Amino acid sequence: MSDKIQTNSRRAVLKTGLGLVAAGAALSTASARAQAVAQEKLAHELVQYQETPKDGNQCSKCAQFQAPNACAIVAGPIAPTGWCVAFAPKEG
Ligand code: SF4
Repeated sequence: MSDKIQTNSRRAVLKTGLGLVAAGAALSTASARAQAVAQEKLAHELVQYQETPKDGNQCSKCAQFQAPNACAIVAGPIAPTGWCVAFAPKEG
């Protein structure tokens, strides 16, 4: 085997290795970003969440509600009959 072939093989292995490291870093970053987004939901205390309706308003009537028991902006789970200061009525 010539030195040139060995050098090319080493380069190929190095390139593949660097590619895998880059791919791993990208996946790790995406995963970390997804976790950060998940953790960015507001705590119940911050939005004065309660498990009962207020003035006829409740989570199941809110634009942020995600059936059966989640909210797009408040950490879950939440009750469909709950309410918080971020309540925004569904349109329509
Ligand atoms: S009232 Fe608050 S907790 Fe309930 S769905 Fe709307 S934003 Fe989420």
